[in-house]
Amino acid sequence: MVYNGRECALLYRKAIGFGRILVYSKHRHDFFENKTILSHGLNFAASVQAALSFADHPIRRRTSRPDPLANILDKAGFVMSSVVKKTDVILIGAGVMSATLGTLLKELSPDWTIKTFEKLASAGEESSNEWNNAGTGHAALCELNYTTEKADGSIDITKAVNINEQFQLSRQFWAHLVNQGLLRNPGEFIRPIPHMSWVSGDKDVEFLSKRFKALSENPLFQGMHYSEDHRQLQEWIPLMMQGREPSEKVAATKIDSGTDVNFGALTRLMFDHLKTRGVEVNYRYAVKDIKRAQGGGWRIKVQNLNNNQVEYHEARFLFIGAGGASLPLLQKTGIPESKHIGGFPVSGVFMVCKNQAIAEKHHAKVYGKAKLGAPPMSVPHLDTRYIDGKKALLFGPFAGFTPKFLKTGSNMDLIGSVKPSNLFTMLAAGAKEMGLTKYLVQQLMLSNAQRIAELREFIPEVKDEDWEVVIAGQRVQVIKDTPQGKGTLQFGTEVVSASDGSVSALLGASPGASTAVHVMLEVMQRCFPQQMPQWEEKIRAMIPSYGVRLSDEPELFKQIFDSTAEALGLEKIAGVRS
Ligand SMILES: Cc1cc2nc3c(=O)[nH]c(=O)nc-3n(C[C@H](O)[C@H](O)[C@H](O)COP(=O)(O)OP(=O)(O)OC[C@H]3O[C@@H](n4cnc5c(N)ncnc54)[C@H](O)[C@@H]3O)c2cc1C
Repeated sequence: MVYNGRECALLYRKAIGFGRILVYSKHRHDFFENKTILSHGLNFAASVQAALSFADHPIRRRTSRPDPLANILDKAGFVMSSVVKKTDVILIGAGVMSATLGTLLKELSPDWTIKTFEKLASAGEESSNEWNNAGTGHAALCELNYTTEKADGSIDITKAVNINEQFQLSRQFWAHLVNQGLLRNPGEFIRPIPHMSWVSGDKDVEFLSKRFKALSENPLFQGMHYSEDHRQLQEWIPLMMQGREPSEKVAATKIDSGTDVNFGALTRLMFDHLKTRGVEVNYRYAVKDIKRAQGGGWRIKVQNLNNNQVEYHEARFLFIGAGGASLPLLQKTGIPESKHIGGFPVSGVFMVCKNQAIAEKHHAKVYGKAKLGAPPMSVPHLDTRYIDGKKALLFGPFAGFTPKFLKTGSNMDLIGSVKPSNLFTMLAAGAKEMGLTKYLVQQLMLSNAQRIAELREFIPEVKDEDWEVVIAGQRVQVIKDTPQGKGTLQFGTEVVSASDGSVSALLGASPGASTAVHVMLEVMQRCFPQQMPQWEEKIRAMIPSYGVRLSDEPELFKQIFDSTAEALGLEKIAGVRS
């Protein structure tokens, strides 16, 4: 049992005159007997036994009143402890990233002990929850912001190919878990759904046509179709074509091998599986502090939110998978890699239609082009979703601003993350990103009627009574100093690790959950360089394309794609050129 300063104070007052006591200093990372404590000027006189028997005394349950002595002890860094619980790996947060890393590590090193601490009551409740993200299996099949037009008019598909390659790793790992019977019903978390890109106007139609041609050359995008023909489009997306002027210049691409992924369900299934493998998953436990442990590894201070008791746990390796809250926790480690990094929260708002008659008229994820000045995560899309066993349509996301780093976070999150070490980084970003700030303010001011007007560009005959607003998750965009300048806003995912590989944090949220396996393999490469050579064979058994670029191996791609489609109940490829 570990006691915080307030509890120490209670114990101290109660136990005076009993003999010796052990006190642990979290700053010095060591235990001190009463003589050491005396040298700190504190007269603790109690026996360890007396302290331990006192541990269950009802006085310990009175936890909320401020106590000046407790504050002094806490600030001085003293906690009283009989046991600091040790483990191999601690995962902070029970989102899709921790679930993926925990599952990978349990497959590779079944003997390692793993603990998870999650402040909410169950897994996958923040950004990974099905209502908090768009559920797109991002494979760059439809997202126009992953392909850019170069100065010479040609299309750069590098980013799209990379993201597709990364998604193939996730598919293979999920298929492995299903094939091994570790995840049972894949239909609960992944479903086939056509992915489409949609544009209007001459300029964008020309862009889409060139993008289609560029992607069609690559094996990963086989099976994609392009059309400007209203009759064809009427067949593909009747809800979007109904009431549209026949003269309107529009175009779309369609590929049937896209997916809708319920990342919330996937996260819950993975944690259910991990529990059967002996992983300790502690819900309603908030991680409050992180410090180096003596002899290597990390010690975390955790508060059990059910009874407000504080515990201390140590691990050889710590993963900070706390979503938007990863940045403040990373800052607590004090590692040099955590300096000069800031975060800027952007919230998401969707419109949802649960009217089944309307939902039945649309069967695709249709991504449009981002408005001028809009950040990449604000690309509008109209999606078929399968949530809670029902079909629904989602449109958005609209951006918004709150200073919270999590949907369940605090209004002090943003200001609290500004430290002397990142102040200039944040100020530089503030000065540079006036455009984004203006955009977010505009988005924040949008009325429902204005949101419906944007939706009308997708569904000309939309009726506002069929749609309601849902607040989605928070994304905390990384701000860091790069060769491009101080305080540069990043839109991707960033893995930040200590040079000794003992702690790693995941920041940012794009392309996000879809590429969780790729990102967690990166964490493992950085933090377990000694184990990786032994693990490689096992990784290849789970993820056959590990270390291979599938876009260079069309036959292997087809074989892997079709076998994962079989395992996950998805569409196979009609034919791949070799
Ligand atoms: C609007 C929106 C749309 C998106 N759309 C897509 C999409 O279509 N496709 C896609 O692939 N990705 C999408 N993403 C991104 C994706 O949702 C995230 O990348 C992913 O869910 C992040 O997972 P995570 O495990 O890192 O974080 P989370 O799922 O947020 O989990 C972090 C967990 O840590 C817990 N936690 C935080 N602080 C503490 C603490 N101190 N102590 C204990 N626990 C703590 C939280 O309660 C939470 O459960 C979207 C995100 C948003 C916001």
